[in-house]
Amino acid sequence: MTGPDCLFCKIAAGDVPATLVHADAQVVAFRDINPQAPVHVLVVPRKHVSSLDEARGADDSLLGGMLLVARDIARREGLADRGYRTVLNVGDEGGQTVHHIHLHVLGGRAMGWPPG
Ligand code: 5GP
Ligand code: ZN
Repeated sequence: MTGPDCLFCKIAAGDVPATLVHADAQVVAFRDINPQAPVHVLVVPRKHVSSLDEARGADDSLLGGMLLVARDIARREGLADRGYRTVLNVGDEGGQTVHHIHLHVLGGRAMGWPPG
């Protein structure tokens, strides 16, 4: 599923509304519609990559950029000192439900380990 059929492509294009917390040439970030923590933001590349397993070597700066955007959002949301979690679900057993790569930023409560 790509382009016009993909929910996160639609959000990145502004065709589906979301509460954006960041937008630049490569990446958008918005609040999760079903938050699992007081802060739950999704960092999403504008380019459609269906999962980490589909990422290419040439996507290295895109993937690194997603992490740095996550870091900046965590700082802005006041999470840097107390800590937070980033999660990248991959495939069925990884719990991925939207097949456009996205990095979860979760914080504002203590996280358990191991994850479910
Ligand atoms: P996954 O399970 O694929 O790692 O994460 C997908 C995430 O997207 C879920 O946390 C889910 O709540 C979120 N999500 C699904 N549909 C929408 C939507 O329409 N808007 C927003 N903001 N988040 C969504
Ligand atoms: Zn997409």
